[in-house]
Parts: sequence; C-alpha cells; structure tokens
Amino acid sequence: MLTIALSKGRILDDTLPLLAAAGIAPTENPEKSRKLIIPTTLDDVRLLIVRATDVPTYVEHGAADIGVAGKDVLMEYGGQLYEPLDLRIAQCKLMTAGKVGAAEPKGRLRVATKFVNVAKRYYAEQGRQVDIIKLYGSMELAPLVGLADKIIDVVDTGNTLRANGLEPQELIATISSRLIVNKAAMKMQHARIQALIETLREAVEARHLG
Ligand code: AMP
Repeated sequence: MLTIALSKGRILDDTLPLLAAAGIAPTENPEKSRKLIIPTTLDDVRLLIVRATDVPTYVEHGAADIGVAGKDVLMEYGGQLYEPLDLRIAQCKLMTAGKVGAAEPKGRLRVATKFVNVAKRYYAEQGRQVDIIKLYGSMELAPLVGLADKIIDVVDTGNTLRANGLEPQELIATISSRLIVNKAAMKMQHARIQALIETLREAVEARHLG
C-alpha cells in the first residue's frame, strides 16, 4: 500500500490533476466526503486527508509514505524528509507586512505570525532583536489593534493585506507545494516511488508547457 497525505483546498485541487497523470484518482470526492482515508482507482494507493501543517508529521513518521506540503509549512516544520519535486502549485510568497506608512519601531520589533520558527531564523540572520507572537490565524488583525508591529504571512494577490490597511514589505521566500517522501519508504519502495516522482515531474512540466 502506498499512502499519500494531502490537505483539502488549494493543494488538493491542484494535486489531483497531477495524480491523475499517474492513474491515481480518488474514488470519492475528498472535499465532500467525511472520510479521512480515501481509496483511489489503484487498489494499492490511498489518500489521507489531513491538516496542511500536519502533512510533514504524517510523512516523517511513516504514517504516510508521500505527501504534498507548501514550502512555507516545510520551512516551519524542519524535520527529516526527502523533498524530491517542486510541484509548482499553490504558489505564493512568504512576506513581512505592516501598516501602510508606519514608521519602524525604535525598540524591539513585535512580529505576529504562525511561522514562529521561520520568523526566529529570519530575524536572527539579520541580527535583529524581536518578540515573536504566535497566532493561529487572522494575522492581519495584529498590527491594526496594536498587538504587533508586523506580521509574517503568505501573500498571493496581496488583496487581504490591502483590505486591512497593510502592505507587503520584505520577501522571505517564494513558496510552492512540494512532494515530500518518507526516508524509509524511499528506500523500501524505491522503484515504485521513483516511478511516481518521474510521472509527476512530467505532468508538472507538461502543465507549464501547455
Ligand atoms: P491574497 O490573495 O494575498 O489576499 O491571499 C488570500 C489569503 O489566502 C491570505 O490570507 C493568504 O494568507 C492565503 N494564501 C494565499 N496563497 C496561499 C497559498 N499558496 N497557501 C496558503 N495560503 C495562501
């Protein structure tokens, strides 16, 4: 059995056409189903539907052999995983943002984010003293109500920032979703996983040529 961990939403929508190229299609709609284990058209392949931030955990521990996770999630997670393929889906940017026209604070910078590890690394590299404030969502609110000076979040069009009087500032990383593979599975099921990676690589390339 080959188990693939995915999260609902953007990643699932954009990954299913790539899996279809490998003859893998869910036998029921994962967006609608309450099931968390979804069989596929291949008897020996199944999908696990998990939270985006949990995908690396399932794969690192071998509960799933393979997964699809955003680079933002992987940067935050760390961990021991193979990352053999950029699927070039769910593209966005990891950025700092602050109130439009706000002056840089004189003292320690207060940064609200769910990407605590990324934030610590980013400011440590700059030698900047910061207080990191962990949030789980609606980061845009933090600067508006004085909880933080800046946020670190993923940005696509920037519309959500602008709608809240914020502006994107520094680019931390360009983001896309990556195929991740459990290290032991890569050894134990090498031929099969390698063949899947190559089929997906071709599907990614075809999508960008077409
Ligand atoms: P935006 O287009 O910048 O207004 O983004 C809309 C919302 O979706 C924001 O809250 C972003 O944090 C989030 N978002 C945009 N792109 C992605 C992505 N590829 N993965 C995860 N979240 C995203």
